[in-house]
This record gives sequence, structure tokens and C-alpha cells, in this order.
Amino acid sequence: MTAVRVPGVPVIDNGELLSTNPATGAEAGRFPVAGPADVAAAVERGRQAAQWWSSLGFAGRQARLLRWRAALANRLTELAELCRLEGGKPVADAVIEIASAIDHIDWAAHNARRVLGHRKVRSRLLVAEFSGHLEYQPYGVVGVIGPWNYPVLTPLGSIAYALSAGNAVVFKPSEYTPAVSQWLVDSFTEVVDGRPVLQVVHGLGDVGAALCRAGVGKVAFTGSTATAKKVMAACAETLTPVLLEAGGKDAMIVDADADLDAAAQACVWGALTNAGQTCIGIERAYAVEPVYDAFVAKVVEKAGRLTVGEDGEIGPITMPGQIEIIRRHLEDAVARGGRAVLGGPEAVRPPYVHPTVLVDVPEDAAAVREETFGPTLTIRRVRDADEAVALANAVRYGLGGSVFGRRRALAIARQLRGGMAAVNSTLTFVGMSTLPFGGVGDSGFGRIHGDDGLREFGRAKAITRRRGPSLLPAMTFERSPAQVARIVAIVRRLYGR
Ligand code: NDP
Repeated sequence: MTAVRVPGVPVIDNGELLSTNPATGAEAGRFPVAGPADVAAAVERGRQAAQWWSSLGFAGRQARLLRWRAALANRLTELAELCRLEGGKPVADAVIEIASAIDHIDWAAHNARRVLGHRKVRSRLLVAEFSGHLEYQPYGVVGVIGPWNYPVLTPLGSIAYALSAGNAVVFKPSEYTPAVSQWLVDSFTEVVDGRPVLQVVHGLGDVGAALCRAGVGKVAFTGSTATAKKVMAACAETLTPVLLEAGGKDAMIVDADADLDAAAQACVWGALTNAGQTCIGIERAYAVEPVYDAFVAKVVEKAGRLTVGEDGEIGPITMPGQIEIIRRHLEDAVARGGRAVLGGPEAVRPPYVHPTVLVDVPEDAAAVREETFGPTLTIRRVRDADEAVALANAVRYGLGGSVFGRRRALAIARQLRGGMAAVNSTLTFVGMSTLPFGGVGDSGFGRIHGDDGLREFGRAKAITRRRGPSLLPAMTFERSPAQVARIVAIVRRLYGR
């Protein structure tokens, strides 16, 4: 039976997942759908491959990961074109995303030994005759479940780090981006001579659910908060640890001493890049009274100049179902007293949504509290930065954020509830491989990227080793009352002040 095609809506056609462009309906590829037995078999194959992969050691893995990095760098434009074909993403946006992902592969490969490798640690009072040893051992097979909005950077934020740590990976990509995901897995498989170190299993949400129950050592999930809860519940059945990177509702705060041109430029990019389909996208801005009017005017002027369309700066909404959520948020905001100073509900013209800036929207409206995931922004006038912080922190999400200003900007950034903040820029923390990335509250927990991101993919293994006879045999029944009295005296002398 041939399925009815709606541009961008993935369908299963004769056991294959059919991926199409959201604007044109052009086919991006067909991929076999995995059943639960296929997922289990992939995990078993991964378990065998993990033994070989981990036996290569940090140097052997680094050499292969750097060859993968080079392959991606040399074929960057080919992959960017596939991102455009499959997800409708403007090629320039895809290039930046892929460049950032390549940098993460490079960093993880170069730093895995330093962060995870064996090291000796200092001993302590009662065990002075032992040496301490610490290393982070791989989980074996890690399940990575990814979203569609950044189909290269987001999964690789887990995959590159999990591989560097010595794990094999079974990857369940979004049903909206199977072609990009297959391309990534195939390119890695070439540098490991066809071994199943990184495998992909295609399909709908049930394939992700099967992966959670397939006996992997850990699940790294990126996607919506609702699905994150299902993943955590499924993994709880077997106490499989989880790393959850979920949605966001990031805010920008513009203080009185901000460079308003720079703030407006960064706000427009942070809110509208990738048509606003960005977990760390700026969805709300709070500008203090003295600069509010000028800031709104500059944002509207810059956002109004952006081109919309297949080859524009603002591409189509990748997931057709999201368009109704965006429409609902805009209509509700306007019905409740909000004003569109650019765009508005009539800017929703499927498969596109034109840039929209709303002001005077009540703080309890969906457009302020829920993830809109479109090229839309609310701006609110606030008395001062303290009020801005209170409002910015009053949502369930806590992912990233941004502050523009001089004197107090860093202090304000520290007060924002969330895992990351950018001062006088937006989104920049995601490109800094040296920094951890992750959220709090409904945005999830755990960290990808940086030292913390590497540690997510290794189990701490602690070993003590005797290096000489015990002077104070604390950890044995052989200790004498005199030795216990001596321990009491030493503890008092060392710690009693
Ligand atoms: P979803 O939660 O809909 O899907 C994420 C992944 O989970 C997909 O691969 C999906 O498969 C799979 N899945 C669906 N149901 C289940 C299930 N029951 N068990 C296991 N896996 C399942 O998110 P989207 O793909 O729509 O991605 C957008 C969301 O991702 C936004 O909320 C965005 O903020 C967030 N995100 C967060 C980031 C972060 O780092 N914090 C980064 C990027 C995005 P299928 O697609 O086949 O349904």
C-alpha cells in the first residue's frame, strides 16, 4: 500500500520510513524500520563491537575519531545540503551547526584520556598506607535518542563523547531526520572498517522506547520534556541511568547600560535562527524601562528585514504539527492583550512562519510560559534587572539564557536559573566544547560537552592498593586499644580546631 504524502510528515511505507522535505515534499530517503528484535540485535552487536573499540585505548580511538572529524570537515557542504533537503534548514545554518559538531568531535577525542584516563589520587588519614586509583570505564553500549531540530550537533554532543569514552552507540534519530542520521553513521562506519561501533535504528517513538528497554548501559536522550519523562520511566524499570536534555524557554535580559545595537542583533539571531526551532533559542526578552522602546524598535527593524522561504534566512517549520502550536500561542497572546509589533497570527503561512515580535503579553500566557519553537519573540518592559531575573526564572524550564549590559551583566547571568548563560551574546556556550551543556527543572539533567560531558559516559571506578604495612591498622580487628586511642589523639590534633 502506498502512503499518502504530506510534505515533511514522515510516513511508514511498506516497512520503510519515508523522509520528505517540509517545504517541497521532495524525498530525502527511505530507511528500514526497526522492530524490537532488530533493536535488541543492534545492542548485542554493539556489545561485541564495544569490546574491540574499548580495547583500542584512548590513542587508538582518538586516531579513528580524528579521521571521522576529517571526513566530516571535507564533506561538510554535502552534509549541509542534506540537512536542507531533509529538514528545510537554510544551508548557512546547517554549515554552522556541522562546524560546531566537528569541533566537539575534535575536543572529545583530544581530551578523553585527560578526563577519563587512569590517575592516582592522594590518600587520606586512616588509609595512608594505600594508594588511590581512579578511572572512568565505559558503559559498554550507550543508547542515544535524538531530536530533529539540530540533527547533527545535538546527537553528536552525546555520540562523540560516548565514543571517545570507549562505548559503542546505538542511535535512534528523530523520524523527521533519518537521512542525515544514516549519513553520519555511515561516515563513521567507514573509519572503523565496517564494525558496528555506531549503529542507527530507524522508526517512530516505539523504537526509542524499545531502545530504553534493550539492556543498554545508559540512555542519552535529547527531545521534549514530555518524552523525557517517558524515557526516564522506561529506564527506571531496569535502573538504567539516563541523561536528559529537554526543552527550554530561554530569556534575554537587556540592562540599562547595554549596547542596544549588539543586543538587538544577538536577540534577533538567538530568537529566529533555524526558524526559532532551537532548544536554547531566545523566546522571551526583558528590557529595562530606559532602553525598552529603543530596543523593541531595533529588534523589529532587524527581524523585519529577514527573508523567508526555501532559500531564505528563515526556512520552513520542519515538523508540520508544530505550526498549530505556534498559531495557538500567537492567537492566545493577542486575545489576551498582547500586541504584534511585527508579524502576528497572520504571519503563520504554512509551511512558513514569518518573524513575529509580541509586546504586552501577560506573563501567564502560553507564549511566555510554554516552548513555542517558532520564529517568534515576546518582549516585556521591566522596572529593573531584578524584576527581569524574577520573571525570567518564573518558568518550569531552565536551560540557557542571555544578558546584555556592562556593570551588572555577569552577576545577572549567575542568577539566571539554568545550566548556561551568555553575556553580551546569545547561544555561544553551545559552541564552546570546553564548557558543559544541560539544564535544570523541565529542561532535564546531566551534562553533555566539556569534562562533565565526557564523565557522563564513563562509570567512575575507584581502586585502593596497599603500598606498605599499616602503622595504624584502622581497617582491621587486629587494632589494639592503644592504637585506637592514638587515632583519637591524631583526629583531635588534625581536625579538632
Ligand atoms: P520528541 O520528544 O518528540 O522526540 C525526541 C526523540 O524521542 C525522537 O527520536 C523521538 O522519536 C523519540 N521518542 C518519541 N517517543 C519516545 C518514547 N516513548 N521513548 C523513547 N523515545 C521516544 O522531541 P522532538 O524530536 O520534537 O525535538 C524537539 C524537542 O527537543 C524540543 O523540546 C527541544 O527543545 C528539545 N531539544 C533539546 C535540546 C537540549 O539540548 N536540551 C537540544 C535540541 C532539542 P520520533 O521522532 O520517531 O517520535
